[in-house]
Amino acid sequence: MAIKIEKLSKEKEKISFIVRGINNSVANAIRRSVLEIPTLAIDTVEFYKNDSALYDEILAHRLGLVPLKATKTFVQRGKCTCKGKGCLKCTATFKLNTKGPKTVYTQDLKSKGVEVAYPEMPLIFLNKDQEIQLTAEATLGIGKEHAKFTPGLLWFNSYPIIEIEGCAGAEDFVKVCPRKAITIKDKRVSIDPLKCDICGACVEYSKNKEKCSIKITPSEEDFIFYIESFGQTKPEEIFIDAIKAIDDNLDKIVKDSKKFK
Ligand SMILES: [Zn+2]
Repeated sequence: MAIKIEKLSKEKEKISFIVRGINNSVANAIRRSVLEIPTLAIDTVEFYKNDSALYDEILAHRLGLVPLKATKTFVQRGKCTCKGKGCLKCTATFKLNTKGPKTVYTQDLKSKGVEVAYPEMPLIFLNKDQEIQLTAEATLGIGKEHAKFTPGLLWFNSYPIIEIEGCAGAEDFVKVCPRKAITIKDKRVSIDPLKCDICGACVEYSKNKEKCSIKITPSEEDFIFYIESFGQTKPEEIFIDAIKAIDDNLDKIVKDSKKFK
């Protein structure tokens, strides 16, 4: 069966679509590979001054979780020509020098080649005369190493295959569905496959009704994907990058298997 994608909805940071003609293993491999997409995040912080109420470690952790957008291409440190020392190609440096009283926002982090995805995220509050002086380095990493290197969330459901027999005029079904997927059209029960999460509430209910049968089975080849970006990249790019990550891993296996010759 040919693989087909149908777009359902798209917002700035969210997308959903149906992928037809794959199987559960492929869908799951794509989901897991989101953790292998190289993503930029602050990885080391050097403090020169921290008079704030937060310990260095806690503030460093907060900085690590700030979603960053690269405006130029970075390479992974391990694969860089600097051999892991850190250079402009693999590392973005940030500076933060500020004094209270004020709330310090992510937009106060200054760097070249990188900008913060959300400039108005509060980092810390400084009282009068409290000072912060620090430098930080951001590098590319993958979610398998640390969750801060994850570009977003990807999950999927099986597409429901819905079979309805009889059930004419059974308006009481509308109340049964917790997802509000059931409507009555021309006196017939109709279930929206995009709202249905195959909970089985309507199937159970139909067992106690005469001349009415509802059967819902999860498709083994069609899946509804949902992606939410944390702001570093567009949600559709997360899907493409996850597939690239699978491709890269398979390439490595092919390359290594040449040893057998
Ligand atoms: Zn480098």
